[in-house]
Amino acid sequence: MELRDSLRKIFGAMVRKEAIAADWMGPINRVLRVTEGHDQLVCADGRWKLEFVAREGGLDWLLAAIARSAAEIIVEGAEVRVRICANPVCGLFFSDHSRTRRRRWCSMAICGNRNKVASFARRRIV
Ligand SMILES: [Zn+2]
Repeated sequence: MELRDSLRKIFGAMVRKEAIAADWMGPINRVLRVTEGHDQLVCADGRWKLEFVAREGGLDWLLAAIARSAAEIIVEGAEVRVRICANPVCGLFFSDHSRTRRRRWCSMAICGNRNKVASFARRRIV
């Protein structure tokens, strides 16, 4: 998928503190054109108000939401601590919001625990 490839390149560069190429933004910008929904004037209790109507059908809106979050991370730049999961077979990116700034896993429940179990098993074998 085009969007996924460009996100991998961009976040990979951010993790390695390398420059981000302008042409990697193409797929994100294309998806950003797909809106997650639109505003619509509706009448409720005799008053007009502007209401957000989520896009229905298909999963384009989900892709648009992903592109939107990614774009916000890119705009924040170095302020966001983008990391890659320490599990070599995982490869997921995450932003480190931990107080100690030393988060290693995309998810403690998934990769973190798996690592704990693996190193426990290794200690038992040796
Ligand atoms: Zn992981």
